[in-house]
Amino acid sequence: MACVRKRRPFGAGRLPEQPVILEETPVPDYTLPDLPYDYAALEPHLSAQILELHHDKHHAAYVAGANTAIEKLAEARDKGEFGPPLTGLEKNLAFHVSGHLLHTLYWMNMSPEGGGEPSGDLASAVDEHLGGAAGLKAQMEAVVATVQGSGWAALSWEPLGQRLVVHQILDHQDNAAAGSLPILVLDAWEHAFYLQYKNVKADYAKAFWNVVNWTDVAARLEKVRSVTLP
Ligand code: MN
Repeated sequence: MACVRKRRPFGAGRLPEQPVILEETPVPDYTLPDLPYDYAALEPHLSAQILELHHDKHHAAYVAGANTAIEKLAEARDKGEFGPPLTGLEKNLAFHVSGHLLHTLYWMNMSPEGGGEPSGDLASAVDEHLGGAAGLKAQMEAVVATVQGSGWAALSWEPLGQRLVVHQILDHQDNAAAGSLPILVLDAWEHAFYLQYKNVKADYAKAFWNVVNWTDVAARLEKVRSVTLP
């Protein structure tokens, strides 16, 4: 169900004493994107069974959770209920929207034609900020290996320092510098690898490099590096 929010119209020349007209503007629901390839397209590095479950069940659940959180927050505001349950709803929103975003990036960060090494401006930035692709890969693999519980390894653009950083994301939403924009993410939740790699998470992280879509990562860097904060 689509939510609506009331928004003041922008009217040049509107006199202050005129009543503010509220109009309802539909807010689009979050939607599950299609996988950009077939379930089996990343085999043998990632099994079709994992991709189908991961996309159709897990990612879909984050999309549904994001929409539910938005709806319930709107209801709470409408009722003027700003008590403790609101904090839980805000956390749910952060969790599910972040899960939705990260999974969408994850699918696009991989390709059946992936692998190889970064090139061009991406390679230059990785060299300058992370000491080269070998360091980037080793740090991301170490992040995956050391996730306690559920999390992600991420390569992000940090707009304040204007640099690339590698970091761990706890669950889907914690442990990133504010304003950081992820351009390459590696899911380290057990659902991402366990059916195929069992307890050998390190092999899953190494296999990821065979399907990583550096072209997509480079395009994302191009897009986000013009962002400046504050
Ligand atoms: Mn996942």
